[in-house]
Amino acid sequence: MDYLARLNDEQRLAVETLDGPLLVLAGAGTGKTRVLTTRFAHILLTKRAWPSQVLAVTFTNKAAREMRERIAAMLGSKVEGLWLGTFHALGARMLRRHAALAGLEPGFSILDTDDQLRLLKPLMQEAGLDLHRFPPPALMGRIQRWKDRGLTPSRVTPADDDTDFAQGKARALYASYQERLASVNAVDFGDLLLHATELLRNHPDVLAEYHRSLRYILVDEYQDTNLVQYLWLRLLAQAHRNICCVGDDDQSIYSWRGAEVENILRFEQDFPGARVVRLEANYRSTAPILAAAAALISHNEGRLGKTLRPGREGAEGEKVAVIGLRDSDEEARMVGQRIEALRREGNSLAEVAILVRASFQTRAFEERLIAWAIPYRVVGGLRFYERAEIRDAVAYLRATLRPGDDLAFERVLNVPKRGLGDAALRRLRETARAQGVPLAGAAEALGGRTGEAFTRLVAGFARWRETLRRDGPVLCLREILDESGYLEMLEKDRSPEAPGRVENLKELGRALAEFETLEGFLDHVSLVMENDENAAGDRVSLMTLHGAKGLEFDTVFLPGWEDGLFPNQRALEEGGAKALEEERRLAYVGLTRARLRAIVSHVASRRFYSGWQPAYPSRFIDELPEDRVEHSGSTMLEREAALSAPAVFASVFPSPVRLPRVRDVPEAGGRNARAAPIAVGARVFHQKFGYGEVMESEGDRLVVRFENQERPKSLISSYVEPA
Ligand code: ATP
Ligand code: MG
Repeated sequence: MDYLARLNDEQRLAVETLDGPLLVLAGAGTGKTRVLTTRFAHILLTKRAWPSQVLAVTFTNKAAREMRERIAAMLGSKVEGLWLGTFHALGARMLRRHAALAGLEPGFSILDTDDQLRLLKPLMQEAGLDLHRFPPPALMGRIQRWKDRGLTPSRVTPADDDTDFAQGKARALYASYQERLASVNAVDFGDLLLHATELLRNHPDVLAEYHRSLRYILVDEYQDTNLVQYLWLRLLAQAHRNICCVGDDDQSIYSWRGAEVENILRFEQDFPGARVVRLEANYRSTAPILAAAAALISHNEGRLGKTLRPGREGAEGEKVAVIGLRDSDEEARMVGQRIEALRREGNSLAEVAILVRASFQTRAFEERLIAWAIPYRVVGGLRFYERAEIRDAVAYLRATLRPGDDLAFERVLNVPKRGLGDAALRRLRETARAQGVPLAGAAEALGGRTGEAFTRLVAGFARWRETLRRDGPVLCLREILDESGYLEMLEKDRSPEAPGRVENLKELGRALAEFETLEGFLDHVSLVMENDENAAGDRVSLMTLHGAKGLEFDTVFLPGWEDGLFPNQRALEEGGAKALEEERRLAYVGLTRARLRAIVSHVASRRFYSGWQPAYPSRFIDELPEDRVEHSGSTMLEREAALSAPAVFASVFPSPVRLPRVRDVPEAGGRNARAAPIAVGARVFHQKFGYGEVMESEGDRLVVRFENQERPKSLISSYVEPA
């Protein structure tokens, strides 16, 4: 029982208390995840259950993979058939097994945000809504929140809705959206758990089957579960009550996505007799980092309250550095220089992270790291699978596998161009709806040349389907790319990006080869939430604070600690104390990712849109204990002056910095104005219109064809950024 020896007494208690409900409530770095992993192995090694009888929920796919590896290492063998993954992945698996009971066919697709909006928008138009006043993403957000709370359309009560929003039509639109999803045999992310929970609620026999087969339930990062996740867990655990949840209320940072920290409190009520184990020794961080994090979070009210003491022996460790700099360029340079120095001293880059509040902040660092040839990866976001050519190819594959997948079919109908533009699509849609057939079956909608082109395409899909069946997905993809004209289109494309796109498609083939079935692959594509493709190798990690939960690094840079950026403007303006407290928890998460050193920085002026804005150091900096912090940098004098004479400071910078309200907006402006003009063919990003390609470029004026806009737009180059 080697593995038990690696635990302290409290951890061991948490691992060995196997029967009945257990809540492990403990601060950052106290070994919660280690407890959960060890518990899993312990259950198997003591033969209390087979691998398939334990269900373990992790927060990310990456965490699931790590847990799988750790369990394999402990057991000394690979284990298959585990119910181990994110809520989404587990929900999808459960739903596939019982699709019919949820009104779906087993091959249903999982839609991404783009597809969701594509489906919702026409419904809103039909309902006569002005999409400028009621933007589809806002309604989508509301629907998601309902789903987070386990509310199907019929469960939504008037109290959950307000009549001002979307002219009081939100509930009805939610219902028609769900109908449309079912009619194209698809679900969205929120549905995975919603349907899975409904399934267990409405089918006692299915629930009983799971009660028989799943004996133990383990949940990591419990503080960030939402209501529907909670309901799902509660249903599954009802019978045997062997559920162990680990969490830290101080790290609850997803309330904006529907997470409810109250689930922790509810646990003891819903599972009477639950045992609560607290872990207090932090094995991750040095004493100054811990003290700084503890002091910071003590400013929050309404905490469950936990003690945290250093669990590591040895030297005291470096103080937390707080560095003031002139502007964001200087900040990026400082971070780059320090990383260079760490590298020269022989430190691994994989042990370095830059954690930002808003994703637009990464760009400044990316540029610096590229310029100095420091390898890095941006963690988070579906980067590879988000690229247009990959999405096109995946849509071809989807429409091949599932003849009724209209959304996929629509996406590639006229890519490459085959004369099947908007007018043709409209006619196809009408006919398909009238006859109750998929788009691909609406052949008689079109006549003449367009009709021929359409018939050719449909015949192509029939052929590719045959190849898929006979030769498997990889050959099928190759045939699609050759015969559809897609590769030819890229080969003729003279833009600098085209060769890279062909490379991406090859890479897609390599990814596909790792899967036995196309269906397995498509599920994977829908579920990969992190950008893992370039995860290997010795690289600096760049990510948002939200994405860093559960991870640890020797060195952590925490740039942009300025009021208005962190805490962000929205929290300062409208959120009241609650929103500010969530920002503070995020700062706590950031600090506690560091093992050896944490470097906080702030700048005196930051560039936004068209100009420079003065910035104040974050209030969180003032909440760090002076004796654990070392201040330095070019704005230190200003800072001291500001602290001793606030009135003078305020008169120099009369109003606080105003930042864009939208979460994570990319920084636009400044750079392009100075840099070389953007070339024709370049891919760019615009905050409102999304991704597009430059068609004309003259001086600072551009004509851009955006992927989601019908007509090309003419605009000033500083409004877009290279993508
Ligand atoms: P977070 O709240 O950030 O998710 P956590 O509570 O899950 O943190 P872990 O990631 O499990 O903490 O552990 C933090 C670090 O401490 C890891 O490197 C882990 O290997 C180490 N650790 C945990 N328990 C012990 C122990 N008993 N002895 C030595 N090291 C330990
Ligand atoms: Mg953890």
